[in-house]
Amino acid sequence: MDHEDTHNRGPSTDLRTPILAIRHAICFTCLQAFPTLKKCVACKRVSYCSPKCQKIDWQRDHKKTCKVLAESNKRRAETPRTSRSWEQYRSEKWLDIVAFKAQNPKFTEAQQRILLYEPFCRHCYRSAPQLESRNQLRPCQICHIAAFCADCSQEHPASECKTFQAIRQDETFAIQHFQMTRRDFEILCTEQPRETYLPLSTAIGWHDYFTRISDKAEFLLEVTSEMQPATDDLTAVKLAGLMRLASGTSSMALTVLAALEAVFPDISTRTTVKLHFIGAADPELNSLMVFEELLHLLPSLKGLELTFVGFELPEPSAEDTAMKLECCPTCTAASRTRSLRLWKGGYHDYVNIDGYEKPDLAVAFHTGFSQEMKEEWLPTIQYLAAAPHPTLFTSYNEKEMEEETTILDGIGANFLQPAEINKWGGLCPMLEVMEEKEGSFYFMHQYRYLVAGKDT
Ligand SMILES: [Zn+2]
Ligand SMILES: [Zn+2]
Ligand SMILES: [Zn+2]
Ligand SMILES: [Zn+2]
Ligand SMILES: [Zn+2]
Repeated sequence: MDHEDTHNRGPSTDLRTPILAIRHAICFTCLQAFPTLKKCVACKRVSYCSPKCQKIDWQRDHKKTCKVLAESNKRRAETPRTSRSWEQYRSEKWLDIVAFKAQNPKFTEAQQRILLYEPFCRHCYRSAPQLESRNQLRPCQICHIAAFCADCSQEHPASECKTFQAIRQDETFAIQHFQMTRRDFEILCTEQPRETYLPLSTAIGWHDYFTRISDKAEFLLEVTSEMQPATDDLTAVKLAGLMRLASGTSSMALTVLAALEAVFPDISTRTTVKLHFIGAADPELNSLMVFEELLHLLPSLKGLELTFVGFELPEPSAEDTAMKLECCPTCTAASRTRSLRLWKGGYHDYVNIDGYEKPDLAVAFHTGFSQEMKEEWLPTIQYLAAAPHPTLFTSYNEKEMEEETTILDGIGANFLQPAEINKWGGLCPMLEVMEEKEGSFYFMHQYRYLVAGKDT
């Protein structure tokens, strides 16, 4: 966990604004819960525990953001003050965000998040500026994420509340963890490399993996098979929180291993594995240590060669040599190695450089190629559909997965494994507020599929 390469790359230094803060459940600055919070009187979109926290945020950011939010309130207040459908709510919010981006070309992700996750009544879909002045939104007393206006029922479906409670619990843990470590992620590998190969495919899920394949059984004594704390005991809550947070990074290593097992019947005897990560960026760079898990679960593996290719990578250093990544003491003593090569640009260009070697497996995590930067992705996707090696794709939700597989199908890709829910998707649900279906949420690497050129 405490490893060179996670430090060298610099762990991320800011936490994405928690939904709990945007929904007025915690102070916007110190991110703690209090019996009462005071809203900024100008925008009413952020709440603070004290004048001190308000002042800190004002100087840090809110001086600028307050104006942006007040403009959004004005736009919201110009819309009808009557109950609307989810569909109408979505399109209004969409217009609000389009207007916000047009007026604030230098918008920040944090500002956009405040607009995106604004509180609204779960039944009539009105946000605060659309309510009569005496009517106020009140949060659900159980999850603190859903809200209700005074005219509507003060309840929402139990299953939705349960997911929101999980989001609240995961965010609360992530905040504490960030305040202690300055990291918004955690890496929890198998401590000691396994001496015998136990296929990951034999594990029924995360709990089974952590207990039987990894070595975290003692962490799981008070954690349920759904990876929730079994009791309210602080240790149980913390351990479940830690493992749930770590699933976000472990998901990368396990999803890759599951694909390697699916493609190579001899994976347990291979001595080297070459992986190319396409579209790699901060999530991969910040979590390099998590790939050590492949060495720890594949006892015969001696060398793991990672290549990251993507537009968002840092500028290349002068010499194009593979960096040696540090391994744990046991792997180092056994002369096992991990290396990393970085290449800034598109994969379809990378394959043309001198010295290109095809990978055993290419990995394209969360490209979202059907949604964003379609033009930039197209040549790479066309290359991969005919590539002489398999490619693992993951997506956040079903819609992206369906769009992507339709595109790949259309250009003649061969599906080695059809799209399916990924057993090794992350455990923390993330709220999706712009989907056609109300109350949607997604997970890291929720869907996965494997593609290869026709002749591989
Ligand atoms: Zn505070
Ligand atoms: Zn304000
Ligand atoms: Zn309402
Ligand atoms: Zn609730
Ligand atoms: Zn190791």
